[in-house]
Amino acid sequence: MISDDLYREIILEHYAHPRCKGKLEAPTFRQDGVNPTCGDAVTVELDVKDNRVVRAAFEGVGCSISLASASMLTSLIEGKTLDEVRELAATFKKRMLNRNDAEPCPEQLGELEALDGVRQYPVRVKCALLAWNTLLGALEEAL
Ligand code: ZN
Repeated sequence: MISDDLYREIILEHYAHPRCKGKLEAPTFRQDGVNPTCGDAVTVELDVKDNRVVRAAFEGVGCSISLASASMLTSLIEGKTLDEVRELAATFKKRMLNRNDAEPCPEQLGELEALDGVRQYPVRVKCALLAWNTLLGALEEAL
């Protein structure tokens, strides 16, 4: 269990210095997503080779939660297979929609644990999930 202050620090650090921000030259998949309740908009791009994410990138405007989540997403999925990415997305979505604090955060979520505190604010959960739902939309094309 890490403290709320550390959570906030991790989120703000990703927001201030996003990983994998930008555009890919010729992405295999590209998807736009919006969260109208907050005004967040992200674009997720993936380079996929042999069923594996070689590179991921995002661009977007929005609140710190939505952009920090997008930054964590892109840095976490690079090198993973599409099946692993889908599983990670499902695990994170389940975590975000589970408000039981007693359950420990699955280890595979890594830094995403910093978004745990968001779960008590259903409106902000949409911010945290925006990039992930956008990612899943992009992967639907991969089926
Ligand atoms: Zn937001």
